[in-house]
Amino acid sequence: TQRFIWPMAQFGQIINMYQRARASAERIFGLMDEPSRLAQDPDAEELAVSEGRVEYDDVNFGYDENERTVKDVSFDVDGGETVALVGPTGAGKSTVLKLLLRMYDVDDGEIRIDGQNIGDVTLSSLRRSIGYVSQDSYLFYGTVKENIAYGSFDASDEEIVEAAKAAEAHEFIENLPEGYETMAGERGVKLSGGQRQRITIARAILKDPAILVLDEATSDVDTETEMLIQRSLDRLTADRTTFSIAHRLSTIKDADQIVVLEDGQVKEHGTHDELLELGELYANLWAVQAGEIDELPEEFVERATR
Ligand code: ATP
Repeated sequence: TQRFIWPMAQFGQIINMYQRARASAERIFGLMDEPSRLAQDPDAEELAVSEGRVEYDDVNFGYDENERTVKDVSFDVDGGETVALVGPTGAGKSTVLKLLLRMYDVDDGEIRIDGQNIGDVTLSSLRRSIGYVSQDSYLFYGTVKENIAYGSFDASDEEIVEAAKAAEAHEFIENLPEGYETMAGERGVKLSGGQRQRITIARAILKDPAILVLDEATSDVDTETEMLIQRSLDRLTADRTTFSIAHRLSTIKDADQIVVLEDGQVKEHGTHDELLELGELYANLWAVQAGEIDELPEEFVERATR
């Protein structure tokens, strides 16, 4: 299948490898096990999700106070919609989503879920409502079953198997030495990237969150695995508000909205067709990918690698 790769993306990936390894640990532990790092109002209420509508309202954020990484970002996503975040490496795509998960708090502006400022609700209720599937699919040392049920401790065996089936993982799990009881994770059985990913997709399906954050895989998998992953992702994202840092052509093209980030700002925003019509950065990247032009015009190369 065809992939949509941003110019310099692979270059950036090498530079980012070390960063990513650190970030993945931060993601898992920051997200699940350390919920009280951020200040929480003692009167914070539980987040009540009805439609899953998400609004970014003039959001600003910097990792340190001298540099803003996210600048005046605004966009709305209706419940059930899919939004694809695209842009060159370092543009701020992951950061924009980390703010939704409150791995960091915004410096200025607001993010609202169904009208509630996420800064005013309990972290536990926020994170219960959001599923997170990343390309650094993380499994802890425990059985496959425990890995799927992580975050859904009251799930029955039937529900776990159902989730694994929906994630196209049941078959390979059954073929493991001890099936669902096989130990996975660092000292466990060796699983491929595509298998680990489908286990984390099963985990997200079981959790059944209204909102989903998807850091799509760029890992090298064969066409068959790619198809299985795509199918399971389609099931996972159906009827959920989905934010995707997308590398797959199909995800981007079919998204309800595409937000093009560059240097922390929303530079373009619309559907695939609208952005082609606009004829700017997105359209030019698309033309390169489609082989219509050989390389990105100079002005965009400069902007994208700045
Ligand atoms: P990529 O496509 O490479 O993943 P991205 O668009 O997701 O990039 P971010 O990961 O959000 O971009 O990074 C935006 C900027 O913030 C980059 O300059 C990056 O170096 C910086 N950054 C990211 N994480 C941190 C951090 N934990 N501390 C300080 N700076 C960070």
